[in-house]
Amino acid sequence: MQAIETAKYTDGTFQPIIEKCEGCERIIEVEGTRFCKTYISPEAKWRHDMCNFATHAKPELKLVKVRVNPLKASKRASRRK
Ligand code: SF4
Repeated sequence: MQAIETAKYTDGTFQPIIEKCEGCERIIEVEGTRFCKTYISPEAKWRHDMCNFATHAKPELKLVKVRVNPLKASKRASRRK
């Protein structure tokens, strides 16, 4: 990687990754320290919830059961024809 591209990681703008980032494909190692290619502050990304750009972790899908009234559903379906 060219010096210009890596300079932004070593000039202090980018914070090193945190433990939760472990395994993410967006990690880049520059001069022995690992940074995130996408976020300046990985710690902030994980502070409230999980990082939405993490390639190694996905939020669990919450299945919501939607009750469908069969009568209304069939009416809707017939209207679309
Ligand atoms: S994308 Fe998110 S999980 Fe991956 S390294 Fe960056 S901050 Fe960490």
